[in-house]
Amino acid sequence: MGLSREIVKRARGVRLLVLDVDGVLTDGKIVYTEEGEQVQGFHVRDGLGIKLLALHGIETAVISARKSRAVEKRCVELGIMQVFQGAGDKLSCLKAILSDLGLDYEHVCAMGDDWVDLPLLKKCGLAVTVRDGASLMQEHCHYVTRVPGGRGAVREVCELILDAKGLLDACMNLYSNPR
Ligand SMILES: [Mg+2]
Repeated sequence: MGLSREIVKRARGVRLLVLDVDGVLTDGKIVYTEEGEQVQGFHVRDGLGIKLLALHGIETAVISARKSRAVEKRCVELGIMQVFQGAGDKLSCLKAILSDLGLDYEHVCAMGDDWVDLPLLKKCGLAVTVRDGASLMQEHCHYVTRVPGGRGAVREVCELILDAKGLLDACMNLYSNPR
């Protein structure tokens, strides 16, 4: 992947992945049906990345300022237990999660695409923004994904973490060498 040693070092210590929803797990578009229901699209490859992290004891948390049933459903599907929606203060949410799990900020990789994520991102061991994030986000983050939000950006970061921990090949072998 050609990652800097600093990124690899930061990724190696990650024990928790914290995700924003709109613009990270989705492409940021919010579509409303005639009935006023909200529709969001998730990238299927992000799902496997999150499951592979879980397989290696790395938990994922979702913190969103908005509320949607689609997010709830997707998190259930992926076995994400730490889900906070309608979170006005994302950093307070993270504080609660960390005390719950007994972890520190240095153990956290957080992904966000907009300024509201900055208070949280600035605290974390590995701060990531997406390629199409809001202006100036890149200046405050350690890593910028190659793909945009909602297009496999979360998967890219999951692989980065697994790779830094020396687990990526084993993960791929699960699928490429079926018994
Ligand atoms: Mg966002």
